[in-house]
Parts: sequence; C-alpha cells; structure tokens
Amino acid sequence: MQFSLAPFELLRPGIWRAVAQPAGVNIGLVAGSTGALLIDTGSSPDQGAELRQAAEATAGVPLVAVLVTHSHFDHYYGLAAFDDLPTYGHESLIAALDADQVTEEAAELGFARDRLRPPNRPMALARMVDLGDRHVELVHFGRGHTAGDVVAIVPDAQLIFTGDLLEQSAPPAMGPDCHLKEWPAALDGILGLVKEDTLLVPGHGDPVDRVFAFTQRAEISAVYGQVEYLIGQGVKAEDAFAAGDWPFDHDTIAAVLPIAYAQLAAEGKVPRTQLRLL
Ligand SMILES: [Zn+2]
Repeated sequence: MQFSLAPFELLRPGIWRAVAQPAGVNIGLVAGSTGALLIDTGSSPDQGAELRQAAEATAGVPLVAVLVTHSHFDHYYGLAAFDDLPTYGHESLIAALDADQVTEEAAELGFARDRLRPPNRPMALARMVDLGDRHVELVHFGRGHTAGDVVAIVPDAQLIFTGDLLEQSAPPAMGPDCHLKEWPAALDGILGLVKEDTLLVPGHGDPVDRVFAFTQRAEISAVYGQVEYLIGQGVKAEDAFAAGDWPFDHDTIAAVLPIAYAQLAAEGKVPRTQLRLL
C-alpha cells in the first residue's frame, strides 16, 4: 500500500486541505487565533502522526481538536496519533472498530488493529469547537454515506467539509454500509446552510459549489427512486441495469444494485412476478 501526503493547500484564509494516499482522501485544517482543528486523519496511525506534524507546521497554532467524518479507514485509522487531544466522531464509530473487516483492513494497511483508537468525544448530533476568533460546528445530519457522517461547518468562512456525503473525483461511494434512502435528507441538512459563494470540500476530489451538491443529491436520490420503481414493475436485480435510467456509469450502478435491492427488501419491497392468466 502506497502512503503519501501532499502539502496543505490554502482554500480560504486559515483553512487548508491536503490530499493523502491511498484513496486520495481530503484532510481538512481550520485555524483560528488560539488553535486549529484537523478534519480526518488518514489511513494509518503512522500517517496520522505525519499529518499531525504537517498540520501544526501549517496552522501556526496548536491543534486543539480532531474530527473524524465517518468510519472508513482512509478517514479514521490515523486517529490514534491524536488520542491526547479531544477527538470527535459520531458515536457509531466506536462499534465500527469492532467489525470483522477491521482486522483485515489493518493488515492490508500494514499495522495491527489494536493500534486503532475510537474518538474520545463521541457525539450524537452536534458539537462546537472554539478556535479563538472563529468556531467550527460539527453536525450529524442523519445517516447517508454511512450511519455516522459528521460534517464540519466554518460559518465565518462560508465553508463546509462534507466528508464522503459528497465526492467530486468519482461517483459517491454507495457501499453496503450506506443508507441510500436517507442520504438525500442528510444532504438537505447541508444544502440548507449553503449560499451562492459557499465552498463545499468533499471527502475526495476538488472543492465544489452549491450546484454540484444539488446535482449529486438528485443523482443519489434517483438511484433509490429507480430501484424502487423497478421493484414495483417486478424487475429483478440482475435485469435492473438494462431496464433502468441511471445517473452513474455501469460499474457504479452494478455495484450498488444488490445493495439497493437488499435495502428495499428490508422495507418489504421485493419484485413480485405477476401470475400469467391462462
Ligand atoms: Zn467513505
């Protein structure tokens, strides 16, 4: 696995992002007059330590808090390097570290899973981080990309770090742990705060604007809507790509179809074959 960290790039006064590999994840940094907040922590405890050094050198003030936007390895697994600071993340992140796949992921990334640490300030809905002359609001708008997405809002700068609720460099990652039906509502929480000049920093890729966010919200909503419609028409998962009208490419849709069908089946919505009348 190739680890690397690009230099922090200034987005707005006192706000930066750096891209960490593997996975091309955006790491956010917000500095105020007395302290700085780091948003996401990279893919390993060692990468977290490297990030910590780079962030403190860039911010010019001490790091006073860290946020993990959700449970995926590229955002979460560097958190151990910050355990002496207040570290925030959704409360579901604690249980997420117990999942079976974590051992395998840690081994692939080259470290033992017992080096991982959960957030020491688990949160349910919202927290405020005081950085002196500015503050950052940490908010969970509901389930979406995962069960525990938290965004970081910098009100004075009109800038929001969205985690993987939005992605620019690829279609949004709609994995088995996403909540497709609820995801658009989580994005509505963000969109309700967005003005024309607001900058949205996605989990992966370049910063985007309001129009991009509205569009991606509609696309995610369309995936769920199409699957629901096709199930109503009696179309099975294996026939759904050909039968549907999709906002994303074939590979993205082929990957999400079994997940979407399973999530709708859990709501009691399954394709029913019509009886042929002889
Ligand atoms: Zn993710």
